[in-house]
Amino acid sequence: MTLDTLNQYSLYWIAFALLLVPVLLKVKQPYGKHISSKWGPLIDNKLGWVLQEIPSPIVLTFFFFSSGTQKPLLAYLLWLLWVLHYFYRSIIFPLRTRTSGKKIPLLIVFFAICFNSVNGFLNGSFLGEFVANNHSDNLFFLLRIMVGFSLFIIGVIINHQSDNILLHLRKPGQTDYQIPAGKWYKFVSCPNYMGEIIEWSGFAIMAWGLPALSFAVWTAVNLIPRAIDHHRWYQENFANYPKERKAIIPFVL
Ligand code: NDP
Repeated sequence: MTLDTLNQYSLYWIAFALLLVPVLLKVKQPYGKHISSKWGPLIDNKLGWVLQEIPSPIVLTFFFFSSGTQKPLLAYLLWLLWVLHYFYRSIIFPLRTRTSGKKIPLLIVFFAICFNSVNGFLNGSFLGEFVANNHSDNLFFLLRIMVGFSLFIIGVIINHQSDNILLHLRKPGQTDYQIPAGKWYKFVSCPNYMGEIIEWSGFAIMAWGLPALSFAVWTAVNLIPRAIDHHRWYQENFANYPKERKAIIPFVL
């Protein structure tokens, strides 16, 4: 495949994400706090997470290695960051969640498998063949890697710290909800989503290509409406919910 074709696919993928914004602002993604049986058959939540997330690193790796071209070190670094993230997200994260007996709609799992496969295909193809060759003498290249990598790491830290706070709100066996507190929860209801968006924005800056940009855009399009839904849910369900807390962007939204 040529870079032009891959860029064209990525632009269609970004356009599709943007078209979905009004829908996602209206329809709550029906899992976790917003689970609904109106979306057809349900399956075990942990199993659903494993099934829906694992295609991402597998498809990415397949397309990454299927091009025989010689790859720069940066391509291997980006591939490794993606695979490590998704090893955690598809295997370790579901095992850590305290969601025994909870369900997720099969349809959501199906949508997520498609979503993760497209992202794996676009980014695996890009990283495997088109990541710019090593311009380590070029100041812009070095700046891009430094800024992108720093944002990626900051995003990972915020995402993990915030998910850890959520996961420890329940004792083993509990499945109820409480008000999260501490760290970034002082400012927003969903710092885990804020961290995820920062993380993939950093990745896009490092990769400097439309496929990576498309994934950063999709992450924001998925998570900003969901953060607004979570925020409203907390306000409706807890009379003492902190008034100054925003949904996802400190002091703004
Ligand atoms: P949530 O914040 O909805 O839930 C995370 C975990 O914490 C779940 O196990 C949830 O249980 C539990 N939890 C949430 N709120 C509370 C509370 N108030 N009290 C006790 N337990 C709570 O996150 P998601 O499940 O939507 O996402 C999980 C991870 O995946 C996040 O890190 C997110 O950034 C990432 N993600 C990335 C996407 C992308 O496009 N890149 C898309 C979606 C998610 P329960 O399931 O019972 O609600």
